[in-house]
Amino acid sequence: MRGMSAAPPDTPNPLRAFIGVFRYSRRALELVWTTSRPLTVALGILTLLAGAVPAAVAWVGAQIVDAVVAAIAAGGIDGTLVVEFVVLEGVLVAVIAAAQRGLSLCQSLLRAQLGQRVNVMILDKALTLDLDQFEDSEFYDKLTRARREASSRPLSLVMRTFGLAQNAVSLVSFAILLAAFSPWAVVVLFAAGLPAFIAETKFSGDAFRLFRWRAPETRMQMYLETVIAREDYAKEVKLFGLGPRLLDRYRAIFTKLYAEDRALTIRRDLWGFLLGLIATLALYGAYAWIALTAVAGAITLGAMTMYLMLFRQGQSAVSASLSAVGGMYEDNLYLSTLYEYLETPVAARRGDLQQGPNPADGIRFENVSFSYPDSNRPALQDVSLHIRPGTSIALVGENGSGKTTLIKLLTRLYKPTAGRVLLDGLDLEEWDPDTLRQRVGVIFQDFARYQLLVGENVGAGDEPSFDDESRWRDAAAKGQADKFIEELPAGYQTQLGKWFKDGRELSGGQWQKIALSRAFMRLRADVLVLDEPTAAMDAQAESDVFEHFRQLARDRITILISHRFSTVRMADQIAVLDDGRIVEAGTHAELLAQRGRYATLFELQARGYR
Ligand code: ADP
Repeated sequence: MRGMSAAPPDTPNPLRAFIGVFRYSRRALELVWTTSRPLTVALGILTLLAGAVPAAVAWVGAQIVDAVVAAIAAGGIDGTLVVEFVVLEGVLVAVIAAAQRGLSLCQSLLRAQLGQRVNVMILDKALTLDLDQFEDSEFYDKLTRARREASSRPLSLVMRTFGLAQNAVSLVSFAILLAAFSPWAVVVLFAAGLPAFIAETKFSGDAFRLFRWRAPETRMQMYLETVIAREDYAKEVKLFGLGPRLLDRYRAIFTKLYAEDRALTIRRDLWGFLLGLIATLALYGAYAWIALTAVAGAITLGAMTMYLMLFRQGQSAVSASLSAVGGMYEDNLYLSTLYEYLETPVAARRGDLQQGPNPADGIRFENVSFSYPDSNRPALQDVSLHIRPGTSIALVGENGSGKTTLIKLLTRLYKPTAGRVLLDGLDLEEWDPDTLRQRVGVIFQDFARYQLLVGENVGAGDEPSFDDESRWRDAAAKGQADKFIEELPAGYQTQLGKWFKDGRELSGGQWQKIALSRAFMRLRADVLVLDEPTAAMDAQAESDVFEHFRQLARDRITILISHRFSTVRMADQIAVLDDGRIVEAGTHAELLAQRGRYATLFELQARGYR
């Protein structure tokens, strides 16, 4: 497995790590702002309130104590001022409670909106990607990681950013009040939190690097989950008794990851505790200092109460900021994968021409070679081929000889490594992608089986007619699927697939008839490609279907991949592929006369039928 053995990257310095914490906060805020402005404004106001009011509460607390002391000294008769301050404090505390409630309300509302927004962004991007990007394992990691936490991480980063802002407002207001006692008290308050802060940043960084570095293992775990628990694999997993082995593998990955997690968590908590002790020491040092100052008569009892409260609350604000920063670090790193994914460059929209100079020319492969990304063996080598409109061609060759690859190049799913593919005399690269898509219709051997309505599965062949029932019927009749579809409980409206209640399953042959009908939906396409979609049908049905296609395809090009010579021989032209090269080409009669590979393969199959 690629990437499984990569070493964990080195540790960055704490300052860089700290700055990194805010790298994506701005973008997360933008994301919230564009998702819902009223909610963002509400969050801002409530954050300010929740941050500033605690200092006021501390100040009122001091006033209460001083008023009590003064009232006692005055003979203990008049308590009005004391009561007024108590009422004020009660009101302020209610304000804090309201602000906090409001914050959590905003958070719930944002969670839903933001999760949906990010998921749509991810899926939107997926639609613009090239096929080879899906086959690139590193890219696929990014996509799965981005999807996995799409609904929680951006919100979490936003909430932590606001939480940090709230604590910062509190700390500033505390500092202003504390400075009246001594600027040094302010210094002690912040300095005591610093070591724990640095440790937090470092460990969060470690945690993420672990998370990112182990993506291949996590992906394998997710894959195993799919294989063990999904209906389409269940049949084989059961019959071959693969379950326990796969589950063991799943467990082994967990055990390995857990060991790493445990080591990190223990280290993190141990250091957190030790460095936290420094803060506690500082708190009690300051406590003694403030108390002794009061004893010396330099501050009032009320002021002492206030300073102690400021110190205590200041410290919890510092430690709340600490854990916010730790969490933000992880959220940021998530967002970095998200944005890396969203910013993956997509191939520029290539050509924009809608017509070729020579419409009678059909398809031409000119010295085309192709290697798949990450593969050093060419899948096609120096292939030249000319297919005129109104003719059919059959591609013959062993598995892996390059037939499907040739079709993928023709449909521009991939770009040739060398040489050109032309349609109507114009390089495919110069064609407008939408026009090209309308002109070429392909049914692959691994065609998609959508868990949608039966009719929609047919309609998928021609997007504008996706839900046009009369077109479905027409196409299904040509693809010989009409009979069994009409016998289904809801006819064309029958839901397919086990994921849904009452979803029906189709047999392999029935699915192939659906796929063929899908091809017949493409009345406008003038190049039709059938890549072995008929393998599960009997020989007679296959040749009937092909005959159908030929009649339909009077001025079109039909390309057929099949292992059945009874069908292949009906094509106007036959090309034999071997190891990525065209080794023979001609009509059935010509190739038999050549007594080459085609003739041998034909004889072999014919003997089987005798
Ligand atoms: P055929 O359709 O004739 O069975 P293919 O065109 O599918 O053959 O495959 C030709 C060669 O390309 C094979 O060696 C196969 O392993 C390789 N190949 C096919 N698809 C991919 C892919 N997505 N990535 C890398 N190699 C591939």
